[in-house]
Amino acid sequence: MTTTVEEKLLPLLKTHFGYDSFKPNQLAIIEDVLAKKDVLAIMPTGGGKSLCYQLSALALDGTAVVISPLIALMKDQVDVLRANGIAAAHYNSTQSQEQQQEVFSSLQQGALKLLYVAPESLGAFHSIFERININLFAVDEAHCISSWGHDFRPAYTQLGNLKERFPNIPIIALTATADDTTQEDIAHQLKITEGARHLASFNRPNLFLEVRPAQNRIKHILEFLDERPNESGIIYCLSRKSTEKLAEKLQLAGYAAKAYHAGLSPLERTQVQEEFITDKVPIVTATIAFGMGIDKSNVRWVIHYNLPKNVEGYYQEIGRGGRDGLPAHALLFYSYADVAQLKRFIAESENAVVEHAKLQRMQQFAEALSCRRIALLNYFGEEVVEGCGNCDICLRPPAYFNGTVLAQKILSAVARLKEREPMGTVIDVLRGARNAQVYDKGYQHIKTYGAVPDVSWADLQQYVVQLLNQGVLRINFREGSRLELTPLAKEVLFSKKTIELAVLEKDVERKKVARSGRAPTGDLFEKLRLLRQRLAWEQNVPAYVVFGDASLRDMEAKLPRNESEFMDITGVGQAKLEKYADVFLREIAAHKPAKRKSKVPTHQQSLQLYREGCTVQEIAEKRELSENTVYGHLMKVHAEGEELDLHQFLGKQELLDLEKAKEALPDAQGLREYFEFFEEKVPYWKIKLGLYLLDH
Ligand code: ADP
Ligand code: MG
Ligand code: ZN
Repeated sequence: MTTTVEEKLLPLLKTHFGYDSFKPNQLAIIEDVLAKKDVLAIMPTGGGKSLCYQLSALALDGTAVVISPLIALMKDQVDVLRANGIAAAHYNSTQSQEQQQEVFSSLQQGALKLLYVAPESLGAFHSIFERININLFAVDEAHCISSWGHDFRPAYTQLGNLKERFPNIPIIALTATADDTTQEDIAHQLKITEGARHLASFNRPNLFLEVRPAQNRIKHILEFLDERPNESGIIYCLSRKSTEKLAEKLQLAGYAAKAYHAGLSPLERTQVQEEFITDKVPIVTATIAFGMGIDKSNVRWVIHYNLPKNVEGYYQEIGRGGRDGLPAHALLFYSYADVAQLKRFIAESENAVVEHAKLQRMQQFAEALSCRRIALLNYFGEEVVEGCGNCDICLRPPAYFNGTVLAQKILSAVARLKEREPMGTVIDVLRGARNAQVYDKGYQHIKTYGAVPDVSWADLQQYVVQLLNQGVLRINFREGSRLELTPLAKEVLFSKKTIELAVLEKDVERKKVARSGRAPTGDLFEKLRLLRQRLAWEQNVPAYVVFGDASLRDMEAKLPRNESEFMDITGVGQAKLEKYADVFLREIAAHKPAKRKSKVPTHQQSLQLYREGCTVQEIAEKRELSENTVYGHLMKVHAEGEELDLHQFLGKQELLDLEKAKEALPDAQGLREYFEFFEEKVPYWKIKLGLYLLDH
C-alpha cells in the first residue's frame, strides 16, 4: 500500500500544530517544496503562509532557513514554534555573543528544524551553510526584495545569489502582495522564474465589510466599542495628531487605547506594539505604519477613521483583522473632506496621475451600491459575481433595476473607443457631448455617440462606477486610466448576461448595520480568555502563543471533558496537550453558564437608573459595580452627547486643584501620577472626571 503525501503530512499537521486540515493552497505548496521545486506563493494575510515552510521543514531531514525582515516578527514565530514543541531559533544583530554562539552550535549539531535569520545577518553563516544539511530556504515577506513593492528593503537584494550558491536547495518565497509587477520581480530577482507559482484567492470571507458616512465618527466608534468589550482592534487615522486625540478620547471614555505613529521614539513604538500583541493595550490608534509584521491573530476589528488612499492599502490594513479565521469587522468612515485632503497630498507626489486614479477607485468602493467584496476582489483581478452575504450592502441591498441595455450601451462605447479612453471621455461620447475632446478625435462619428442622451453626467458616471465595482469594466492605471472590458463584459455584450444596476437614490444615508461580523461572546470564552492571558503573562509571550481565539471558541463549543476530547480542539497538538490540558479542562469543568445578560449597554443601564432618580451610590449598589465604574458610565454617556450636569459631582476648588496638578504634571501618562500628586487622597473617579471636565 502506498501512502500519499497528504496521508504523510496530516498526522504531522495535527501533532505539531493541532490542525485537522489544510487551508487553501497549503498542501499543494508543500507538495511542491517536498518535490524540491522552487515556489512563489502568493496568499492573503492570514492565509497561513508560515505553515507552508514550517511543515515542509518538519517533513524533511535537516534544517530550514527562514529569512524574515523584522526581528520582532521572528521572535514571535520562534515563540509559537517552541510552544508547539518544535526546535527553532532566531539569529540577529541585537543578540549577545553567547546567544549567537548558542545558535551556531545547535545549528552545527543539526539540532534545529528552523533557523530564522534577518537578511542583514546572512553573511555570518557564509561558511556554515556549506557544511550543514539545509533542506529549504524560505523568504518570507518576499515583496521586500522588490523596489516595486511597498516595503522595499535593500538587504533583501542579497538574497539574489542564494540560488547560485545553493542550486539544489529549494527556495520558497512568500508574500501577500497581489500586484503582477511585484510578483514577476520577486521571481526574477530570486532566480526562481522556472519554479511553481501558487496564487491563492484573496477573499477573506470572515471579514465583515462596512462603510459609514463620517459624521459623528466618535459617537459611532464609542457605540461600536461598547458592543465589543475586551475585543482588540486597530483604528487607522490619516495624521499623527488625530491618532493622539482619538486615543485620548477613548481613554476618557474608559478604554485602554494608545496612539502609534512615526513621531514616537523607536522605543515607544516597540512598547506600544508589544502591549498590543500581549493584549495589555487592546486598542491602538495608528497611522498606516502600524501593523506590518504583526502576527497577532485575534484582531477582531479594524476601523478606518479616514479614507485610505488606495484599495491596496485598505485591503492590507483590514487584512490584519481576523487572521484566526473567526469573524472580524472592517468599518470604514467615508467623507469628502478626506478625499479633498488626500488630493492635496497627491498633488505633491511624483506619481500623481496614477495615485489620483487609485484614490478615485477607493472612493468608488466606498460609494459602492453592490456587494463590496465583489468590488474588492474584482479590483485584484479575481472574477467574482456572487454577492457575499457578509457586507453592509448584501445585508441591506438598495433597489435594483434591469440595467442590461444601459450596460450594453456603455460597454459598446468602450469597445468602439478601442478601450483607449478614460471614463470622462466615454461618458461624453455616450451623452453626445460637443466638446473639443470628442471632436478632435472624430468621436462624433462612432456608432454609440449620443446613445444615452437623457441621463445626467453625474448619474451616468455612477452607473459606470457600478460596472467597475461589478467587475465588468476595469481601469488600466498604468496607461492613462483608460477603461478596459473584462471577460464578463463580453458575456454582457454577446451572451445575454443580464446586469442589475442599483437605483440611484440621492444622498441616502445608509443606516448602520449593527452587531454584524461578530462572534458571540459567551462567559466561558471570557474565562478562557483571562486564563490564557494569565498564562501568557507568566511566560512573557503574546496570548496567541498559548492559544488562538479559534481554539478558545472551539473549547467553548465542544466543552471537552478529558484529554482525548481536548486533543480534538483545533490548535491543540501534542506539546500543548501536555502543557495546557489540565488547566483548561479544570476551567471548563468549573464553568456554569450564567443567565442571559441584558442587551442594553452597561453605561446606558446606569444612565437609566440615574434618570429614575438614583444616586451614584445607589446605582453602584443595585448593579453591584464600584462607584468608580458608575462615574465612568456617566462620563461616557456625556461624551456621547447626553445632557448631564457632571459639575455637581465636583467642587469648584477641586477642579481648580486639578487644573494646577495638570500644569505641574505636563508629562503625566495616566491617572496614577495624579493620584500620587494628591498623596492618594483624591479618588480616581474624581481625577478622571475632573480631567474630563477640564477638556470639555
Ligand atoms: P500569513 O503569514 O499568511 O499572514 P500566518 O502564517 O500568520 O498567515 O497564519 C495565520 C493564522 O492561521 C495563524 O494563526 C495560523 O496558526 C493559522 N493556520 C495556519 N494554517 C492553518 C490550518 N491549516 N488550519 C487552521 N489554522 C491555520
Ligand atoms: Mg506571515
Ligand atoms: Zn457582499
